[in-house]
Amino acid sequence: MILSTHAVVGGAVASLLPSHPAAAAIAGFASHFAIDAIPHWDYPLRSIRLGKGANNRRLSVSTATLTDFAMVGFDACAGLGLALWMFATEGSFWAIAIGAFSAMLPDALQFVHTLYPHGLLHALQRFHWWIHSKRALTGVFGVGSQLAFAGMIAVLARSFQ
Ligand SMILES: [Zn+2]
Repeated sequence: MILSTHAVVGGAVASLLPSHPAAAAIAGFASHFAIDAIPHWDYPLRSIRLGKGANNRRLSVSTATLTDFAMVGFDACAGLGLALWMFATEGSFWAIAIGAFSAMLPDALQFVHTLYPHGLLHALQRFHWWIHSKRALTGVFGVGSQLAFAGMIAVLARSFQ
């Protein structure tokens, strides 16, 4: 799923563990794989490759590459901001931030794997590919269903607070 959705779900999970940052980190990280297993929509990247066997070692500095990084960066920042805005209280700020961050981390590691496909990173990537839904949703239904999913998780998590 997109990074914003991962961050909202990570923040939601962390909001149930507001005084346990380490548990929030683990739960956030695990939530990434759990929701990637659900058929979903992802926005297309023009230059960065993330599929099986992807290699970004020869990524050029082009408009397409910069646009990709800008989009991913915006997605991540928006996600972190949304998660904090929806769930953070004075006492839980760091737990929520850590939960949202670690929920997005597997996709950053996925990128690092395209540069260095070895060891533990490779094992994690194999798991990521394996669990990631092979059914891609597209168009308005794809976007709408993901928005509805993130919203539902947010409402559900807030009702537990
Ligand atoms: Zn993922």
